[in-house]
Amino acid sequence: MKTLSDEQKQFLLSTIRDVPDFPKKGILFKDITTLLNHKEAFTLLMDHLHERYQEYELDYVAGIESRGFIFGAALASRLGVGFVPVRKRGKLPYTTVSEKYALEYGVDEIEIHIDAFRGTNKKVLLIDDLIATGGTALAAAKLIKKVNEELVEACFILDLTFLNGKEKLLPHTQVYSVLEIV
Ligand code: AMP
Repeated sequence: MKTLSDEQKQFLLSTIRDVPDFPKKGILFKDITTLLNHKEAFTLLMDHLHERYQEYELDYVAGIESRGFIFGAALASRLGVGFVPVRKRGKLPYTTVSEKYALEYGVDEIEIHIDAFRGTNKKVLLIDDLIATGGTALAAAKLIKKVNEELVEACFILDLTFLNGKEKLLPHTQVYSVLEIV
């Protein structure tokens, strides 16, 4: 199904567990492990992503560490395209390109291999489980554009819309969120 009904969205949302005060006080953590271990929910979600993206003629799916790896690698495999990890600083073994981004306190940095995409101007989809402030995804979008230029879309399973992360990304790429919390 290319578009999900409201019932299907409600069903998927119901499988995501809220964990208060994790990883620190005041954060309501959206735990997607309870969606992953629910076979009907995980299959419905992946069927939906597969149907949506099979028309895009993608060359790669790039996933953000670490939960973006799960959805990204599963989707890439279904589409029969390559998968590229965007990782936290210091994890990738070969020559990398990096991008810093602001956290609530301090800065963090993510990296991609300089030769992550075989060839140039490949059609890339970026994916992560959740967009909150959009800082992580914006840094990942910039990295992909640095080494490849073309970024077709950024996809999130869940958008915490009240944090306006999508606005940060829209000047750089299209954005699609399967589910939204308003
Ligand atoms: P941000 O850069 O603020 O958009 O944060 C996005 C990243 O942090 C994603 O990789 C999410 O997995 C994680 N994240 C941020 N807020 C939450 C939350 N409330 N629940 C689960 N993961 C979160």
